[in-house]
Amino acid sequence: MRVSRRHFIATTTVAGAGLLMPQRAGAEGSAAANGDKVRKGAVENPGFFRFMLGDLEITTLSDGRRSANNPEKIYGIDQDPKVVAALLEENLLPTGHLVNGFTPVLIRTGGELILFDTGLGAGARDAGQGRLIEQLKASGVMPEDVTLVALTHFHGDHIGGLMENDRPSFPNARYAFGRKEFDFWTDPARLDSPQKNNAALVAKNVKPLADKAVFLDDRAELVPGIQALAAYGHTPGHLIFRVTASDGRTLMLTGDTVNHFVLSLQRPDWHVAFDMDKEMAAQTRKRVLDMIATDRLPFIGYHMPFPALAYVQKNGDSYRYVPETYQLREI
Ligand SMILES: [Zn+2]
Repeated sequence: MRVSRRHFIATTTVAGAGLLMPQRAGAEGSAAANGDKVRKGAVENPGFFRFMLGDLEITTLSDGRRSANNPEKIYGIDQDPKVVAALLEENLLPTGHLVNGFTPVLIRTGGELILFDTGLGAGARDAGQGRLIEQLKASGVMPEDVTLVALTHFHGDHIGGLMENDRPSFPNARYAFGRKEFDFWTDPARLDSPQKNNAALVAKNVKPLADKAVFLDDRAELVPGIQALAAYGHTPGHLIFRVTASDGRTLMLTGDTVNHFVLSLQRPDWHVAFDMDKEMAAQTRKRVLDMIATDRLPFIGYHMPFPALAYVQKNGDSYRYVPETYQLREI
């Protein structure tokens, strides 16, 4: 019996793999165009994660994950590549590639349903990202329920999901943009600069929504209890958000202050290719990490491993990523 059962499993596995092949080939083609390589052999569906912080209902939503080769060309670009590889190895991670998640956040307050960042959008769907709306619906929320969309910054993986077929993805929402970020990306000079592709996306996805937007400066109140804070460096107007519930409990949304749960935290000084002002981004990283470690605050980081909710422990000049496990969950 045992032998035939094994045989049965082996046969179905092969048949199943055969059925999946056309889909995988498509995904690989699109991702290869972006210079990324899709790894085979894993299927996962992280979906959404919801918890209460006092009176606030907080949901993290997976827009998908993406693999990139050559971590040393993204993190620690001012270091010897061997040093970057050694740190990855020490942390039991592959040295040849890394995987990042994309995690928009939804917060339900008394009167608002606020979405922070919007994922990569429809253009990335074939490559396995752009899943925000699907996950939003799975969590019981329709796009038209969202009352306010706030952006940490205007990189494509945060603004790509604002539009769907050239129409606003969240038709009833108002918007909140960083004033400095908006002014930088909508400056006509940007369309003739190394950032021209991203500036073109801002012109297409963000600018048409400006008449429904409020513009945030450092320390602006988004809604009562949620404050925008300047965290410049990754982009010129990058914002993070301090979220305080009615019982005084606080959570930080750190956007792209840190982009990798090991490399950004353990070596906050290292220069990162994605950071537009590398020195300022490193200073901001250390300041924000120091604050959340000292105050023992939970944080949600856009590119952290799903559900992207964690704490930070200070260890000399380095920081350790401590995933939230049951501190905030009522089980
Ligand atoms: Zn990002």
